[in-house]
Amino acid sequence: MTARVLDGLKIRDEIFTELKEEVRQLIAAGLRPGLAAVLVGENPASQLYVKSKIAACEQIGIASWLLTPPATITTQELLAVVDGLNRDNNVDGILVQLPLPVQVDSKRILEAVDPAKDVDGFHPVNLGRLVSGRPGLVACTPAGCMEILRRSNIAIEGANAVVLGRSDIVGKPMALLLMHANATVTICHSKTHDLPEIVRRADIVVAAMGKAGFVQADWIKPAAAGKLGATVIDVGTNTVKDPAQAEQLLRNFPARLEKFRAKGAVLVGDVHPDAIKTAGALTPVPGGVGPMTITMLMSNTVKAARLRRGAPEFSAAPSTAAAR
Ligand code: NAP
Repeated sequence: MTARVLDGLKIRDEIFTELKEEVRQLIAAGLRPGLAAVLVGENPASQLYVKSKIAACEQIGIASWLLTPPATITTQELLAVVDGLNRDNNVDGILVQLPLPVQVDSKRILEAVDPAKDVDGFHPVNLGRLVSGRPGLVACTPAGCMEILRRSNIAIEGANAVVLGRSDIVGKPMALLLMHANATVTICHSKTHDLPEIVRRADIVVAAMGKAGFVQADWIKPAAAGKLGATVIDVGTNTVKDPAQAEQLLRNFPARLEKFRAKGAVLVGDVHPDAIKTAGALTPVPGGVGPMTITMLMSNTVKAARLRRGAPEFSAAPSTAAAR
C-alpha cells in the first residue's frame, strides 16, 4: 500500500481562491487588508522569503508595504519603525522577518508588535490566547498543518497525536491546536525516551525536529484490521548535501536520487521518505506543509483586518474561518 499524498499546493490554491473572494468583498465594503513587511539588512534567504510573501499579497489583492532598514539599525530605531506601523490604520498585519541582526533585541521587537497585527502569531498575548482556547492569531505553520488535516478529512477528535518537537513556533502551538481539536496529544523532544514506541502508537504524527529522515518508516503505524495507517504531517525542511545520506534516504526513489546527483542537494523532511509505504496519508517534502505557511500568513492578515476594523464574517470559506 502507498500512502495518500496530502498535497499542500492543492490546498494552498483552494485557500487562495477563497481568500481572493473574501478580499474582493472586503474591498467592495471599503476595507482593503494590508500587510507590512520589515526586512532588515540584505540576508538573501530572508529577501527571498519576503519577496514570496509580497507576491502572495499581490495575488490575493492584499495591500503590501516593504520596509528595508539597514543591517546597522538599533533596537530603538526598529522599535520606532514598529510603533509607526502599529499606529497606521491601513496596516492590518506586521511581519518582522527573522533573523534580525545580533545588535537588535529580537524579543523586544516581536513583543512591540500590536497583538492585533501580529500575523505571525508570535506575540505572548496571542500564545496565551491559544493556550486558553480563545480566538486570536495563530502561528502560521501549525495553523497550516491543521488546515491540511481538516481539508483532507483526517479524523482528529479522539486520535492519538504525537508531536515531535516543542519549539515556540511549531511544536508547542501544534500540540495546543490538536488538543483543542480533541486529540490526545503527546509532545516529544530531544530528551524523550523510547521515541519509536511512542510514534508507533500515533494515529497522527507531526514531525518538526529539523533532522532529515529521522523518523523511520517502521515507526509509523501501518494499516491493520480495516483501519488506515497513521497520518504523517512532515514539517521538517532539511537540505541534504551529503551523497551517502542522500543515497540512504532516497534508495527507493531513483528519480529523486538522479535529481540529487545532478544538483548536489535535495530537500528532505524529518520523516524517512520510505514512510510512504507504511503511512495511511502523508505530506510530501517539498509540496506539503511548506506552501501552507505563507498561505496562513495571508489568511491571518485577512482575519486581522476583519477583527481590527469590525468587518462582518465572510461565509463562503467555513473551513479557513474555523481554523482561524
Ligand atoms: P527547532 O526550534 O530547532 O526545534 C526542534 C525541536 O525538535 C526541539 O524541540 C528539539 O528538542 C526537537 N528535537 C531535536 N532532535 C530531536 C530528537 N532526536 N528527538 C526528539 N526531538 C528532537 O525547530 P523548529 O523551528 O520547530 O523547526 C523544525 C523543523 O521544521 C525544521 O526542519 C524547520 O526547517 C522546519 N520548519 C518548516 C516550516 C515550513 O514552512 N515548512 C516552518 C517552520 C519550521 P529540544 O527542545 O529538546 O531541543
